[in-house]
Amino acid sequence: MTNHEIKIAFEEYDSIKELDKTDYELCLEAANALKNSHSPYSKFRVGAALRLQSGKIIYGSNQENVAYPSGLCAERVALFYWGANHPDDPVESMAVTAQTDEFALTKPVTSCGSCLQVLAEVEKKQNKPIKIILYAQQGPVWVIKGIENQLPFLFFEDRLNA
Ligand SMILES: [Zn+2]
Repeated sequence: MTNHEIKIAFEEYDSIKELDKTDYELCLEAANALKNSHSPYSKFRVGAALRLQSGKIIYGSNQENVAYPSGLCAERVALFYWGANHPDDPVESMAVTAQTDEFALTKPVTSCGSCLQVLAEVEKKQNKPIKIILYAQQGPVWVIKGIENQLPFLFFEDRLNA
């Protein structure tokens, strides 16, 4: 038997005001994206903003449905929009934030496993890591570079080869 240890790394800031200008502005765009969240069931609004290499910003927000599994997370709404409309303009960074009237959010909301798997696919497709900026409106900011720092055991088709 052998024990293995995997380390992941991320940066933590007290506030988005500590970020550089482009990252700070992307966080404000993620907060803007919250406005179009359709979340009457969870009452949990999530906003995502992608900054592309050209400087273009793409928005996503969670879109719920009365048939619950038909809804989609903010991150995948934005990433699939990117894939459908701007696949040749690489994603440099993605900011994600959330809001609810039900309780105070004091920690960044992290992405679900399905969104991480899609993020992995986008990184692979563009052959370039993406900077993820997660922040709570009244809390710290986590900056995570590359999918390997979020999903170290991510699935890739090369794992299918013996
Ligand atoms: Zn998700």
